[in-house]
Amino acid sequence: MKPTMNQYQAIINFQENDDYYYAVKTIKIFCRFSCKSKAPNLNNILIFIKNDKNLNNFRPCKRCEPLNPRPATANIIDKFKNYLKNCHTKITLEQCAKALGYNSSYLSRNLAQHRIKFNEYLKNEINN
Ligand SMILES: [Zn+2]
Repeated sequence: MKPTMNQYQAIINFQENDDYYYAVKTIKIFCRFSCKSKAPNLNNILIFIKNDKNLNNFRPCKRCEPLNPRPATANIIDKFKNYLKNCHTKITLEQCAKALGYNSSYLSRNLAQHRIKFNEYLKNEINN
């Protein structure tokens, strides 16, 4: 299906989406919303639910590796670190997750995968 404006904005802003990939018609690849490749032209994008069989007509992007779960986590960690870098007050995991557009258990699961403890990390960032 064609992207909505919200979906297109998310792609331009590298906001990972848990449910959808986008495919680029012209080059026949599909990507995560968070892919750091150059944003494709709106008219060349198709949105697919992640388990859509039509994705078989496209190749997974080599940059964001949409079928590999690790880079998505890496993106979340990047966003998390960037956010805390600019955050000078004490916040809770819930507030942080909300600001990043995740639910808190999803964020804390991803942090755990990278052995990051929210409170410790926050303390170090604020003291620096
Ligand atoms: Zn990609």
